[in-house]
Amino acid sequence: MSIKILPIALLTVVFGFVLGYIPGLNEHLHWNLWYVVPVSGLLFGMAVGGMQFAACYKMNQPMGKFLIFYLSLISLLGYFSVDYGIYKSITIEIKDAENIDDGVYALSDVISFWEYTKLNLGSSSVKTRYGTDTMEFGAAGTTISYLADMLGAALAAGVALGICRQKYPFCLPCQRYKQRERKYDLLFKFEQSVADEILKGIHQQMKIGVYSQIVAHLQDIASKHFDKKGDIKISVDQRCCPLCHEATFLGSVRRKSGSDWNEVNDLKFRYNTLPELVEKELAEV
Ligand SMILES: [Zn+2]
Repeated sequence: MSIKILPIALLTVVFGFVLGYIPGLNEHLHWNLWYVVPVSGLLFGMAVGGMQFAACYKMNQPMGKFLIFYLSLISLLGYFSVDYGIYKSITIEIKDAENIDDGVYALSDVISFWEYTKLNLGSSSVKTRYGTDTMEFGAAGTTISYLADMLGAALAAGVALGICRQKYPFCLPCQRYKQRERKYDLLFKFEQSVADEILKGIHQQMKIGVYSQIVAHLQDIASKHFDKKGDIKISVDQRCCPLCHEATFLGSVRRKSGSDWNEVNDLKFRYNTLPELVEKELAEV
């Protein structure tokens, strides 16, 4: 594991804290469906996973399976820091309590974070900093939904990182993320024979593997198929390593149903190829 993971961990924790500290927003950060579907946890995990990946991309840190695992664990810590942010932002009004004057207090002046966490986990017996034994804070979340939230955050972060890993190819020898050179979107009205022919042509060129011919072919078919009312879209993302110029072409096919575009998973493709220039240079050696 690289030392680069430390700033990402810090970023995750600060992000969680700030999110928890924002009044109004923080009321929605433990939103569950039927107590066990952790909607907020999942959304938080996806946002954190995306952010963590963006940081790795900037630092050219490859996204290995272990790193995905560690970053998912760190997102748990991030979700915990959301609670710390909420805890620091809450004020409560106290009236007629033993040993405490009436008034509005920051929650963190009244109970410790540990007691607050116990409250979140469903405990009704909470010690205040002023020595009164218990305080009633109304309905608290249950342990199960709290744990489901945290698990949801970790899983969603892992899934988001895994998706980014697929979408952003990395050049291992150069230790660089490949950068988009161009994206081709072919749009046309669905006809099986037309779709088959286009895909067959793309796969043929990709297998031959000559960079300039692939690009010329993609430009040619993209200029012929751009019917805005089309209900099938073939996209090819062309990314190149900035150092050795190795190219990766990521292809996807989407069908329109109603107003939604659904990806056809079986038709995804991915090809790596060397640019002609590099091939020529290699041939001359
Ligand atoms: Zn490279």
